[in-house]
Amino acid sequence: MVVEKYHQMGIAKSRIRVLFEYGMEQAAKVGKENVFDFSIGNPSVPAPAAVADTVRELLTMDPIALHGYTPAGGCAEARESIAADLTKRTGTTIRPDNIFFTCGAAPAMTSCMHALAVENAEILLIAPYFSEYPAYAASTGLKCVVVPPDTEHFQIRFDELEKRINANTQALIVNSPNNPSGVIYSVETLQKLAELLNRKGKEIGHPIYIFSDEPYRELTYDGLDAPYIPSIYPNTIICYSYSKILSMPGERIGYVCVPDCCADSEAVYAAIAGAARALGHVCAPSLWQRVVARNTHLRPDLATYDANRKTLYAELTKMGFRCVKPQGAFYMMVAAPDGNSEGFSDRAKDLNILAVPCDGFGCPGFVRFSTCVSPAMIQRSLPSFKKLAESYGL
Ligand code: PLP
Repeated sequence: MVVEKYHQMGIAKSRIRVLFEYGMEQAAKVGKENVFDFSIGNPSVPAPAAVADTVRELLTMDPIALHGYTPAGGCAEARESIAADLTKRTGTTIRPDNIFFTCGAAPAMTSCMHALAVENAEILLIAPYFSEYPAYAASTGLKCVVVPPDTEHFQIRFDELEKRINANTQALIVNSPNNPSGVIYSVETLQKLAELLNRKGKEIGHPIYIFSDEPYRELTYDGLDAPYIPSIYPNTIICYSYSKILSMPGERIGYVCVPDCCADSEAVYAAIAGAARALGHVCAPSLWQRVVARNTHLRPDLATYDANRKTLYAELTKMGFRCVKPQGAFYMMVAAPDGNSEGFSDRAKDLNILAVPCDGFGCPGFVRFSTCVSPAMIQRSLPSFKKLAESYGL
């Protein structure tokens, strides 16, 4: 006998995967150059050369030390380096003991969810939200409560959020820059959020934590920065990842940071460490802890993503599509001209343009295009986009 819930999760392929696999089949039939795959968020720029250089250098280290277990939260070198970098960048004090290395943002978020999943606890997801959050929450007992999207500016609908906060609300996920909208929450939005959470926290008699899911933190454009949330709302736990920032999603490295300003920070940190342990975490990959520790100065090469974002936004807008202008990350949402996102994705698919309906991101009516693709593919896809626009009478 197996657990039916997990059985279903195991056999249900994500919409992104289905499209990605379809793209490969189509490529075999019609030629790779005639398939325009905007489905998946796999970084398309290579990791900075310094990453490979550091790996080579580390491989000359004592192999027993290099490949051995590290403490569960990470080796001293890595935690010290990340803490020093965050201290410098945020103008606040982050100590090595605030950092817990994980195998990327997914296990970071899952450990945080487990750590706070007291009986009847609820977690708020602000739509559009990353479609995997409900899966992360599936084994925690947390009830996911969705706040409907602001489909104009993609900030937060505070009236809708307030209605959904009650005594069981333990946490709220903030993902900015956002997957799928590409939008960055403004300082004003975050201040308003802080005011609301402080007020409601007092009312219900316990803090409401923000889980700040930050795999796109440095992927920002037009000189914008994603605000450092703990300086605006102290009860914030950061979940960071190097998957997208340093283009190494397969290496599985990231961390949780529980700053001292966070309510009950020591207990929260310990519960996250305990939850990670219960989920089978032993330590994050030792080699990659050291790689990121020695490269805190590295930033992503934004040029290609920025150019792609600008091209796709300009061309599709010109054709008459309503696009959400991305400020960060590498996705762009486009409104289905007739409001039917599934139909839009299917019609695009008939033209070999592959993009994911945002229904699974809590935002029906929109389709997500990943812009981490080759600029040449975008150019080749434009005549097909034109046909798509014409099919809607745009
Ligand atoms: N959170 C968001 C918003 C993401 O987009 C992703 C990956 O696409 C993750 C978390 C998971 O990232 P990681 O590879 O670090 O586990």
